Amino acid sequence: MGRDLSGTVAVITGASAGIGEAIARDFAEAGVRLLLVARRADRLAALAESLPVAVETLAIDVAEPVSAQRMLDTALARFGRVDALINNAGIFRVGTVDSFDLDALGPMIALNYEAVVRASYVFARAMKAQGGGAIVNISSIGANLTTAAAGVYGGLKRAVEIFSDSLRVDLAGTGVRVGIVAPGTTATEVFDHLPAASRPGAGSPVTPLLPADVAAAVRFLLEQPEHANIPHLRIYSSGQQH
Ligand code: NDP
Repeated sequence: MGRDLSGTVAVITGASAGIGEAIARDFAEAGVRLLLVARRADRLAALAESLPVAVETLAIDVAEPVSAQRMLDTALARFGRVDALINNAGIFRVGTVDSFDLDALGPMIALNYEAVVRASYVFARAMKAQGGGAIVNISSIGANLTTAAAGVYGGLKRAVEIFSDSLRVDLAGTGVRVGIVAPGTTATEVFDHLPAASRPGAGSPVTPLLPADVAAAVRFLLEQPEHANIPHLRIYSSGQQH
């Protein structure tokens, strides 16, 4: 049993589906008050309705440069403080030399890397002034894999990891902790744009992780006592080799 999180305030990006939605449900069970951020207002509203805690929703494109400040302002206006930021929103586009869609490059850089940096800095400044807080950035095991098709996605996740660890060092001693959670393949709609035969589980005996498994890993980081910080946690499905 870790640190009691009830009454704390967390901001979760990409909360309308998959891992972000699971983090919202898991945190709500722990009594965490929530600001849920994603583009689909209807899904955020339905989720908020189903949770037993105070919840604010913000339907915005996290990749817009102004979004980081809007998230902070909304959290402070509703709750007066913010204890945790979970940078989870991300997109997954892969392709080889012959198939990578170069139009996917800008949006992926903007959401998977730039938005993480902007939100981390904006919230870190507020948390530093507040005297404490935690930032958890969702990476991927892809950050440390070499595959033909996932160089852009993995490269951006590697960049998130290097940035996050540098931020952790930057903030050491301020009470603001920074951690990375890097999941293996997790059953979510992130793969829905792929042909059915290429989705996780298709033709493979390996059962992917469930979003709730990743949520529990994120909560584990936050539940550490204030003097402890887990900078990097990888979680694999037990059948996944790499
Ligand atoms: P999903 O596609 O299931 O969910 C993605 C979430 O991000 C949705 O809530 C979506 O909401 C939101 N989102 C996407 N684009 C934007 C945007 N521009 N602005 C705001 N919100 C946005 O993905 P997962 O849950 O699988 O992925 C979550 C994170 O986990 C990502 O960073 C991903 O890279 C990482 N990850 C996933 C793995 C997996 O196997 N699933 C493995 C390793 C890491 P909306 O469309 O409403 O905006």
